[in-house]
Amino acid sequence: TALRSVLRTRVPLNVGRMCYSSSVPTTKLFINGKFVESRSSEWLDIHNPATNEVIARVPKATQEEMLAAVDSCSTAFHSWSETSILARQQIFLRYQQLIKDNLKELAKAITLEQGKTLADAEGDVFRGLQVVEHACSITSLMLGETLPSITKDMDTYTYRLPLGVCAGIAPFNFPAMIPLWMFPMGMVCGNTYLLKPSERVPTCTMLLARMLQDAGAPDGTLNIIHGQHDAVNFICDHPAIKAISFVGSNQAGEYIYERGSKNGKRVQANMGAKNHGVVMPDANKENTLNQLVGAAFGAAGQRCMALSTAILVGEAQSWLPELVERAKHLCVNAGDQPGADVGPLISRQARERVCSLIQSGVDEGAKLLLDGRNIKVKGYENGNFVGPTILGNVTPEMKCYTEEIFGPVLVVLEADSLDDAISLVNRSPYGNGTAIFTTNGATARKYTHKVDVGQVGVNVPIPVPLPMFSFTGSRGSFRGDMNFYGKQGIQFYTQIKTVTSQWKAEDATLKSPAVTMPT
Ligand code: NAD
Repeated sequence: TALRSVLRTRVPLNVGRMCYSSSVPTTKLFINGKFVESRSSEWLDIHNPATNEVIARVPKATQEEMLAAVDSCSTAFHSWSETSILARQQIFLRYQQLIKDNLKELAKAITLEQGKTLADAEGDVFRGLQVVEHACSITSLMLGETLPSITKDMDTYTYRLPLGVCAGIAPFNFPAMIPLWMFPMGMVCGNTYLLKPSERVPTCTMLLARMLQDAGAPDGTLNIIHGQHDAVNFICDHPAIKAISFVGSNQAGEYIYERGSKNGKRVQANMGAKNHGVVMPDANKENTLNQLVGAAFGAAGQRCMALSTAILVGEAQSWLPELVERAKHLCVNAGDQPGADVGPLISRQARERVCSLIQSGVDEGAKLLLDGRNIKVKGYENGNFVGPTILGNVTPEMKCYTEEIFGPVLVVLEADSLDDAISLVNRSPYGNGTAIFTTNGATARKYTHKVDVGQVGVNVPIPVPLPMFSFTGSRGSFRGDMNFYGKQGIQFYTQIKTVTSQWKAEDATLKSPAVTMPT
């Protein structure tokens, strides 16, 4: 609460054409080390997804404000990139401790704006914290290479150097983890950072910014703007911005990848998914059913790595009634209520979209084995809740299979063999994640080897790699050639300078010009 009071004011606002009630707090911009009120005339409401009450407003930053933010990044880059790597490391060591100390505060902010359960929100912060902890190893991660004596008296060595101003555009579903995939990695390499959080969940990012400032990050090293398309276009077009990290939908990611690349920027874009869980009849049944239910319905299915599609192979098809039974027992409630397993969806529109995709499945011949559309949550009748829903007899042509639903909906397909399952998964355009459930090592090996998906779990339903590896979604789930965090994250945020130097002894001085190509 103390932190939040720094970020928001409750004074009446003069926002041009619109006059807002003084009771709704506003989200500030973070420009050049100051949390400032936007002068924008365009504001968006932020709702609590469990009640649909307006809990805050977020500005669409003006051009002037966005320019001030990027100028601040450009100015700060000169000194930040020259700051010793040990000093940058110390800031992030302090930062990881501050995040740990404030983990519950961050989680509360996430639950209020995003809706997920408090325990899940703590996981969101924790997975981001791990990236910050990894960033603290920068003194090893940023090492260059050397090769002495490539010819007489001549050595070659490389430096990894920052790019300049980098930018991040984040989605709503992980308000802590995904911004923490972005600016800590970028900044610890010596870049300055312009961040645009999701306009639907900005508060957690603002808290993270305040903590970074408390950890000692100099003014201008991180700037935060808010907004939608104009802010995104600004980031894609501004010449000072050298690289963009994007996470979100395909529609936005493909657009940002194209526009940013055309403007000569590096872009990494993590996008949508349709992740398949393949269940073999030899799997540990109890474990598998629990894993499937957790990974399909946790976070109300609003995870890019949610296991939203099950393929039951052979006799495992008979497990379906038990799967339905387990899903029925999940507790749907507001995220801050004790015992809640499944919170609300982010918005009314998201709820409508999910319900219409469920209906499309029914219309196209799928069997509705569990229907969560009419769920009523006592005390939260106005929230965006959809209960766990399972569609059986789904075929690959159905819309509920081809589209990312991003809700608590599991679609279930059947396959006769492992080969059939693999070919089904490989025909999907997405390549974010997949899992196989089996007790047979050879089956697991064949699956991991043949499946064309960037992140594979063996009896692990949500195989999001830890930050010493990288997040390696592939095919339709990713654009770019360097992934988020880990070694690839360092590559993304650095460029290499190669130095070849010759120090000859005095008596070896060239006596005439060497005009042929040196070999
Ligand atoms: P989104 O694409 O709607 O929004 C992401 C960001 O892009 C936001 O900051 C938003 O302001 C901006 N944006 C939205 N529409 C835009 C447009 N048309 N043009 C330009 N910018 C636009 O995504 P979301 O709904 O916030 O997040 C859910 C999506 O993110 C899902 O598809 C999910 O799979 C994906 N996701 C992927 C990963 C991953 O690592 N692969 C992780 C999390 C979420």
